[in-house]
Amino acid sequence: MRIIVAEHAGVCYGVERALRLAEEAVAAGGAVHTLGPLIHNPQAVAALGERGVAVAGSVDDVGEGALVIRTHGVDPARVDGARAKGLSVVDATCPFVSTAQRHAADLADSGYSVFIVGEPHHPEVEGILACTGGRATVIERVEELPDPLPSRRIGVVVQTTQSASLLQDVVAALLPRVNELRVFNTICSATSKRQHAADELARNVDVMVVVGGKNSGNTTRLAEICSAANERVHHVETPSELQREWFVGVETVGITAGASTPEEQIAGVIAAIEAITSDD
Ligand code: SF4
Repeated sequence: MRIIVAEHAGVCYGVERALRLAEEAVAAGGAVHTLGPLIHNPQAVAALGERGVAVAGSVDDVGEGALVIRTHGVDPARVDGARAKGLSVVDATCPFVSTAQRHAADLADSGYSVFIVGEPHHPEVEGILACTGGRATVIERVEELPDPLPSRRIGVVVQTTQSASLLQDVVAALLPRVNELRVFNTICSATSKRQHAADELARNVDVMVVVGGKNSGNTTRLAEICSAANERVHHVETPSELQREWFVGVETVGITAGASTPEEQIAGVIAAIEAITSDD
């Protein structure tokens, strides 16, 4: 049996940077908190906890020390609140997310009716919405576009980890109904590369295993993309979830992993697949 890892898989630039900034904050001494889990990967967050990085639910929960803003970004008012409280703010917002926040704010300031294409309750989307001062509408599906539209000057930004096909569908639905449409494709390159590589691999293997947080939007979307191309897709966080029967009679297994899945986690799953299939 052959195990093939997708050409692009696992930890992205933004997550690597956030982990490095958190480690630097620990090395600098004093209390270190992250505002919400630093990344959507329970195992990586637990490992950070062992190194002294605590997760705070809100700025009010942190009395002193460093507060790390996670890759998804937050409402700028919360950052101001943390600084006003005397906390040392370490901004690990991914630069791709900052770009989406800036474009959304600029569009709202310029008088466009703004749509944010993404998951309404995802922290990144909540942060982008906050950057517009609430002057935007979040849609997760084309069918959610209102009729009539709020104006004929529409601006669009998209959650960095959304699928390109959803953005294309939204743009195609808007175009005939507006005078002006400004679209910022804020899907990050790490996401597009992982999605393309996962899709291609899923088409060419017997079974796909997607590794990463079940609470990770980008990992879940990889699983969805693979499922559209291959009927045998399994999304796991840890090796303990693997089942031997998934691999019976299988010649090729594809592996992909979300942008918040550390290398060790991918290696652990691969080693476990090799171990449970070694008798075949
Ligand atoms: S997936 Fe993209 S936007 Fe999200 S942290 Fe990684 S590089 Fe940044």
